[in-house]
Amino acid sequence: MPAFQEEACENALFQAKWPDGFRCPHCEGSSFYRITSRSNRVFECRVCHHQTSLTVGTIMEGTRTPLEKWFSALYLMQQGISAKLLAEIIQVTYKTAWLMNHKLRHAIQVWDESRPLKGELQLYGDFYARPAMSGVFDPPDQRDQPAVVGASIDPESGGVAEVKIKRLPHGEFRRRSYDVECYGTFLWRHVTDVKSEIHSIEIVKQSDSEGVTEIGLIWRGVIGWLARTFGGIGPKHLQAYLDEFCYRINAGTNAFATLLNLCGITRTVTLRALVNKRRAVRSVRWTGQSNIRKKNVS
Ligand SMILES: [Zn+2]
Repeated sequence: MPAFQEEACENALFQAKWPDGFRCPHCEGSSFYRITSRSNRVFECRVCHHQTSLTVGTIMEGTRTPLEKWFSALYLMQQGISAKLLAEIIQVTYKTAWLMNHKLRHAIQVWDESRPLKGELQLYGDFYARPAMSGVFDPPDQRDQPAVVGASIDPESGGVAEVKIKRLPHGEFRRRSYDVECYGTFLWRHVTDVKSEIHSIEIVKQSDSEGVTEIGLIWRGVIGWLARTFGGIGPKHLQAYLDEFCYRINAGTNAFATLLNLCGITRTVTLRALVNKRRAVRSVRWTGQSNIRKKNVS
């Protein structure tokens, strides 16, 4: 891992937050003083004398953790490590590391929501079952989480261009049912609403193609990562981990730079909001075109 220096991190976050240069949040003025007596992170507008902090409006807002530790967390998210290991590496408490990782996942989720799938789509439904070894008691209805791996397929290569893995409402997706209706909530929320941009929807069946198709392998990959790194994840935060996994695939070699930019422009989320997150996924009926070409691979 690179050795991050506090001042270089401040400059990099400045770039991510204000790619076109400083902008006073009060008067939009572009010239500023650095208030060095308090911290390099505080700026005063030369026009209206409004003072603003570098971290205001970013994912790091309100943090007391040095930016160099944040940058290490950003860097390590490329590998997908647990809060326990992160806490050891960057020398913070487990609670701080947990919150940092979840704030980064929040930035990823905001990004994910702005990128609906389109074009040629493949869908693959399955159930995520937390391994019993985690020692956590889950009521039966929360043990198996229906989820869908959805991908935009690159028409040239036939490979996955962009992937999302999303929980589905209980009851919507049923085993051995491959009707497109079973994926209504996914299509409603995560696929473009410009119907002409959806060219085809292919439901990939599990029984005979498991482990063969690329999205089947992605599904295996996420299950393996969750088991190895966390001993499995409960329903409440599962979606955030699924999004983190897809982020690594979608951002590829730009994962660190993209996440840094996202941190600079995404408003933070509080611990309370994270803890109060609803665990249920609501069902939405998809009213898509009925003339979309459905390809069932058997
Ligand atoms: Zn100003």
